Amino acid sequence: MSLADARDVFGWVGAATAGSAGVAAVLYITARIAGMGVMLTLLPIMALLLLTLHYFTRQQDAEEAARRAAALAVEREAELALSQARQREAEQTAQHLRELERSEGRFLNAFTHASIGMALVAHDGRIHQANPALHRLLGCAAGALEGRGLIEFVDEDDRHRVTATLVGASAGAEALLPAEVSCRRDDGTEVWASLSCSLFAEQSAQGPSLILQVQDVSARHRAELELQHRASHDKLTGLANRDRFNEVLAQAIAAARDDPTQGFAVLFLDFDRFKLINDSKGHTVGDEFLVKAAQRLLRCLRRGDLLARLGGDEFAILAADLPDDGVAVDLAQRLLEALTEPLSLSSMEIATTASIGITFSSIGYTRPEDMLRDADIAMYRAKVGGKARYALFDVRLHTEVTQRVRLESDLRQALAAQGLAIAYQPLYDLADGKLTGFEALSRWIHPDLGPVSPGAFIPIAEESGLITQLTGYVLHDACAQMRRWGFDHPGAGELAVHVNVAARDLADLDFVPRVRRALATSGIAPRRLVIELTENILMAELEAAMSALKALRELGVGLAVDDFGTGYSSLAHLAVLPIDSLKIDMSFVRNLRPGSKEAAVINAIVLLAKSLGKHVIAEGIETELQLGMLRELGCDSGQGFLLSRPLMGDALDALLRQPRPYPPPPLPQPLALPRRSPLALAASR
Ligand code: C2E
Ligand code: MG
Ligand code: MG
Repeated sequence: MSLADARDVFGWVGAATAGSAGVAAVLYITARIAGMGVMLTLLPIMALLLLTLHYFTRQQDAEEAARRAAALAVEREAELALSQARQREAEQTAQHLRELERSEGRFLNAFTHASIGMALVAHDGRIHQANPALHRLLGCAAGALEGRGLIEFVDEDDRHRVTATLVGASAGAEALLPAEVSCRRDDGTEVWASLSCSLFAEQSAQGPSLILQVQDVSARHRAELELQHRASHDKLTGLANRDRFNEVLAQAIAAARDDPTQGFAVLFLDFDRFKLINDSKGHTVGDEFLVKAAQRLLRCLRRGDLLARLGGDEFAILAADLPDDGVAVDLAQRLLEALTEPLSLSSMEIATTASIGITFSSIGYTRPEDMLRDADIAMYRAKVGGKARYALFDVRLHTEVTQRVRLESDLRQALAAQGLAIAYQPLYDLADGKLTGFEALSRWIHPDLGPVSPGAFIPIAEESGLITQLTGYVLHDACAQMRRWGFDHPGAGELAVHVNVAARDLADLDFVPRVRRALATSGIAPRRLVIELTENILMAELEAAMSALKALRELGVGLAVDDFGTGYSSLAHLAVLPIDSLKIDMSFVRNLRPGSKEAAVINAIVLLAKSLGKHVIAEGIETELQLGMLRELGCDSGQGFLLSRPLMGDALDALLRQPRPYPPPPLPQPLALPRRSPLALAASR
């Protein structure tokens, strides 16, 4: 009992006892001093006092008992609440245990029957427990995975990645990306698996464990690889395609930029006669040719070289790791040599050659397309140089190309601004020297470079497609001039005008309608317009040209074969072509001398043309001797600096005002011609 409790319990009793003792002492002292009488008067007071004290004490006891009873009741209540709480807790625990058991059962079921591979992996990478799906995925018998390291199944190349993922997961790295890796089953077959893992703490284990989910993604992976392959390879030959080539080339350029000792070269290869093979033998043979040719080329490559088909019959080779430029040249020579042996196709053997252009990384390229373009330019140079050879790209070629690009853009502008002029070179009848017409020849005065020769700008116009615009312009001007001259000069009403056209013009479906429109607008008779086409156009595009030629012929327009004798037209073709004149190339006229081979050839051409009813024109007449011989040989008409240079503006008007017949020169000595048949002579050229 504490002091406070002792005071509470005995306080009043003590105080009453002490009070009573005090009163007894006072009474005793009073009785001794004042006598018993006073004592008797004090007795009732005393009795009253004691009575009060007695009641007070009883009240205190009652209060105390009530307080104790209340405390006891509270205590009992608390005990009851406690026992109820304990009971509830016990019930809840039992409930939790039951639920846990159920959930564990569910988890085990899920783990066992999951279609995706699952494993519990210890912190050291060993598999604690793996479900049947994972066993199946990795080709192992039931229970064979437990205790083995997961990494054993992963391919060498991917091991580092998987280890990093597992270590990252064990260290609690968040949001680990699923890793897709190539695995080997126990039987050695490959399976692609997507791994994802998460960390969980197992109380009994030494370190953190991982739950690993492994999904077989082989089918998707194969499909992706297939798509990737399709996107980067040529369907016909199976070689890399242009995109893939550019990709690898870009990597090579970047590597060479970082380390200039990693030199490489690009070879651009184009077969010389593929179009002919394709057109004459059909596309099936063309395709087989490309496949066989690609296989032949592949055999010449070194390890690490990449061969790609860029399209059509164009191939490119990336010759990597070049110790020096000579290695690429050797490779080009090996390729050319390999092609000297004919290719055996299923239905025939085909002999072929190719032209190769080479450019080197040492030039300092930064873009794959530039490098490929320059190799292409060099290839073109190889073609021009005679085909079946290689050519190297150099800075001179680069300057040429830059200039060409500039000329093309300037020519485009000049055409748009109608900045081209047209000169007219007179044509004369060689028998009587009369003016018969003109040849319209384009002239371009470049603002910086001065006059640019047609020999330079016509090929650019042809390649860039500007030629159709140029021809349209010349055609329109030529017809308009004829009409004007017919009005202005009485004798000019029957003169003809010759207009040169290119292969592209004939292939253009709008060409014939354009000629018709030019004639209709000018109102000149169709026979006064002569279209000149070179022999090479006719031969290369014979089929495409034929319908255009027939349509022109039907219109009544004259057709002449220009530069005759320089191309490959067989004489048999001449008979079937709807043409009415042949223009003998000036190279024959230049070397024309009595007894010369040229004299014999011109003689043969004239005889042949006459037998076919064609008109013969000679061009490039520069001397009296040439003129005389051509007349003697029977050429109908001619043009050349001796007769007149191409004229413009006032000079033309002056000529038309007084069209002087060219004085026929005295007849030369009879010609000493070799006695061979014209056809044999022509064929022996
Ligand atoms: P081409 O059609 O054979 O024209 C004759 C060329 O010979 C012209 O050269 C002419 O100036 C030149 N010539 C004429 N007589 C003589 C001569 O006695 N001696 C020499 N050495 N040359 C002579 P040009 O004007 O330089 O034209 C060259 C070629 O460019 C033309 O040859 C033609 O194929 C082409 N060409 C010119 N203008 C046009 C055009 O508007 N359209 C097309 N498609 N081609 C054109
Ligand atoms: Mg011409
Ligand atoms: Mg000509």
